[in-house]
Amino acid sequence: MSSSTSPSQAPVGLISSAASERLLTDRREEKVKTPWGTAGVLVGRIGGRDAAVVLRYGPKLVTPSHKINHRANIWALRMLGVERVISQNAIGSVNPSIQPGDIVISHDVLDRTKSRSHSLFDEEECWVRVDMTEPFCHEVRLALLEATSSLPDHVIKRGVFACTEGPRFETPAEIRSLQRDGADIVGTPLVPEVVLAREAEMCFASIAPVINYGAGMAPAVLHVGPGSMNDNYYANGLHDRIEQALIAAVQLLPQARSCSCGKALRSGFHGTRPGWLTHCSLDDAPVETGAVQPVPAVTKS
Ligand SMILES: [Zn+2]
Repeated sequence: MSSSTSPSQAPVGLISSAASERLLTDRREEKVKTPWGTAGVLVGRIGGRDAAVVLRYGPKLVTPSHKINHRANIWALRMLGVERVISQNAIGSVNPSIQPGDIVISHDVLDRTKSRSHSLFDEEECWVRVDMTEPFCHEVRLALLEATSSLPDHVIKRGVFACTEGPRFETPAEIRSLQRDGADIVGTPLVPEVVLAREAEMCFASIAPVINYGAGMAPAVLHVGPGSMNDNYYANGLHDRIEQALIAAVQLLPQARSCSCGKALRSGFHGTRPGWLTHCSLDDAPVETGAVQPVPAVTKS
């Protein structure tokens, strides 16, 4: 696979905590060198289509959420020719009407992270300010909604995904704050994945199985052990059904994109284009340095 892959052959990207042999077949590992370091990517086939999978916590699940090299991961997928990314996020409920065992296909994001690198372009002579009116690609969301429609689980078709810094769980006061701000679910790795994918002009959407209640909504939030969030994910076949839905969603994605995600930089890029930024929408509409006009002074009436 390469960045010159034609749209109909572009591999589908998946960012997940795990990928079984049933989900990703014919797999091999590639080490992809990016401007932000080397990322390990599993390449193979999902549902009969080429796929590239990032295990965000590493193959041994020992990379905590605040230490993930998001920029290397996202750009590695881009370098492999990926145009569309599905993010699998096992998360907690903030909205009391959403219960463990439910599945949420989010439509919006609330960023409560603190110290992460939020841009691919923060060391360059440019300013990139992508539109986030629709943070998740509607085409990928539609595929996920259709793919989950036949599952026996309760699927919530819209939701606000709050992303916190971690690695600890939230406090009860923080959960109440998120509730007041309209969040439905909470997890730690979605931001800046969703932002960097937009900067890389890749489609991005999330499928989020709910595996615990937020702090204060239940006696305790446990990471491992009996009754923990991990137990909830693998009990009752939820993990297997999520993988089943991922395979179906990949198969449902149209061969070519008709959304606007692949043109995100055309309306958001200002300055000097970095050398590593190849095969993007700026090829079609070159951006001149200094293209942004100063805001006129406000005159008093
Ligand atoms: Zn899209």
